[in-house]
Amino acid sequence: MKKNNATLELSKDEMLAYGHKIVDAIVEHHIKQYEELPVTHGSREEMDSLFLEEAPEKGSEPLEVLDFILDNVMTKSANLTHPKTFAFVPGPSNFVSAMADSLATGYNIFSGGWAASPAAAELEIITIQWLLKIFGFPAKKGGGIFTSGGSMANLTALTTARRIKCGQDFSKAIIYLSDQAHSSNIKAIRVLGFTKEQVRIIPTDSEFKFSINKLKNCIAKDRLEGYVPFCLIATSGTTNTGTVDPLSELAQICKDEDIWFHIDGAYGAAAILSPKGKQLMKGIEKADSLTVDPHKWFFQPYEMGCLLVRNHKHLSQTFTEKPEYLRDIEGNTSEINFYDHGIQLTRRFRALKFYTSIKTFGLREFRTAISYGIDLAEETESVLRKSKNWEVVFPATLAVINFRYNPIGKKYTEKQLDEINQKISDSIMASGEALLVTTLLHGHVVLRMCLINPRTTMNDIMETLELCEKYAAENSLVSLV
Ligand SMILES: *Cc1c(COP(=O)(O)O)cnc(C)c1O
Repeated sequence: MKKNNATLELSKDEMLAYGHKIVDAIVEHHIKQYEELPVTHGSREEMDSLFLEEAPEKGSEPLEVLDFILDNVMTKSANLTHPKTFAFVPGPSNFVSAMADSLATGYNIFSGGWAASPAAAELEIITIQWLLKIFGFPAKKGGGIFTSGGSMANLTALTTARRIKCGQDFSKAIIYLSDQAHSSNIKAIRVLGFTKEQVRIIPTDSEFKFSINKLKNCIAKDRLEGYVPFCLIATSGTTNTGTVDPLSELAQICKDEDIWFHIDGAYGAAAILSPKGKQLMKGIEKADSLTVDPHKWFFQPYEMGCLLVRNHKHLSQTFTEKPEYLRDIEGNTSEINFYDHGIQLTRRFRALKFYTSIKTFGLREFRTAISYGIDLAEETESVLRKSKNWEVVFPATLAVINFRYNPIGKKYTEKQLDEINQKISDSIMASGEALLVTTLLHGHVVLRMCLINPRTTMNDIMETLELCEKYAAENSLVSLV
């Protein structure tokens, strides 16, 4: 018999040494990360100089490779769990979930079908049920699926909406979303092959909410012209301002018009676990489908998104295919094959990290952590309002606050203010001290903080604002001469 030496394996001792080194590094990172700077810079040339090579024909010592990776690769990414990461939607992960994720990978669990892994499928069913209850969806009839993120959840939702509402012919189908909807929805619409003429982007009002009147006019006009309105995408927690669309009113319109009601709550929906968030989320339970992103405000490591649906059959009706090579593992209907509920066949075991962290910390700790972020943004708003230098451009909403440097008594033009605030962000980013970027509101440059990290303190915010003021002073001199 031929002996195979190419099994891609290490000895037991080597594996233990290798694994311990990784766990040590992760723990060390978790402890030290809050002292480390959040921003890392690196050009393509610098990265090439470190990593560019032909795929090596001959291997190297495992621990040598690992050392190289720990020193060079792991140190060159922005730290999105850092308390001074204010930009985008931060990713304040947690250690327990990170370890659970490693376990899922270590065992290489196939989370596609029941037969291959009943416990993985069951944990996905159970954790989806937890989420259905949290969001007030029907417990028995409802369903859902974990995805890689919010973008894939939105794509899964729109695919389902189209299948259920339009069947085979979607040539006249029209989809509605607001100008504040997340770009992933537009991407999903493009992936699905809709033309530009089938998309209606409805302007928002002064508070960045869906304008109901404009929406109604648009739907009515489309019907008169022979189009088929089939799907509306609302947002519960816009990325820019944290704004929640008027969910109950939109739900009613969708019901009256027989339109699929999708809510993109990728970052914001988790706020339902807090008392203030619960108020804002009224009506969320009326959606046909809802995107939430556990890798944002449910503190999970990447990648984890989730789509919840009011009727689980809508997913199976959209995604079930019965190829001959899967005929032996179909099982019964209570034993869900998640490959029949979404796009992926082979899927990683995402439910494990979510399950492990909720079991470990309890929902109560999640509620407290989420409420903290909302309160922190409100406290930041009141600090800004009391200052002569800062203007609150949009009030704290779902842990997001938009503001700009606009000192009382100095008569800057709007253009100058845009320049100064852009420069503040550029200087902060160049300093590496905090991850703080701008966005545009009503065409003007503003600074935006998203404060969902439960490890961010008021002190972190005050230090960052002081730094902003320092850079503002420097830059306003320059920009005015
Ligand atoms: C982040 C976000 C998305 C995209 O989710 P990913 O997990 O990044 O794919 C979609 N919608 C909203 C409102 C978001 O905040």
